Amino acid sequence: MPLIRTCPHCGQKNRVPAERLADTGRCGSFKNELAPLSEPVAVDTTLFDEIVQNARVPVLVDFWAEWCGPCHMAAPEVKQTAANSAGRALVLKVDTEQNPQLAARYNVRGIPNFAVFSSGKLVTQQAGVVGHLQMAHWLDQARSS
Ligand SMILES: [Zn+2]
Repeated sequence: MPLIRTCPHCGQKNRVPAERLADTGRCGSFKNELAPLSEPVAVDTTLFDEIVQNARVPVLVDFWAEWCGPCHMAAPEVKQTAANSAGRALVLKVDTEQNPQLAARYNVRGIPNFAVFSSGKLVTQQAGVVGHLQMAHWLDQARSS
């Protein structure tokens, strides 16, 4: 299942396969540039698997829930990480209330809980609020592992 990205220039919805999400693409209608994804993407299990297994860059996953205060504190850091690492990493958000089976798969108990994947493999996982510098550090490590 590809991700749908809306062109900021013309509003056209473009299907982007998981392995191309970190690349600069082209909008289907007027061939405007579609910049690499630079914000967190909310995913369900299907999209999570698709992206984690096919991404050609490290993937940071934020397991969170609406009721979780610390998750809201971490959210701007997650957003910042997505903006800072556009083209070099992908950032996903998993709502643990809506996707309990995905949270269970990675033994997520305390949230926020961050996981970093490289080539489909889990390389880092940590619970608790951290800043974007720590997140960037994990992604750097994943890139060189
Ligand atoms: Zn367009």
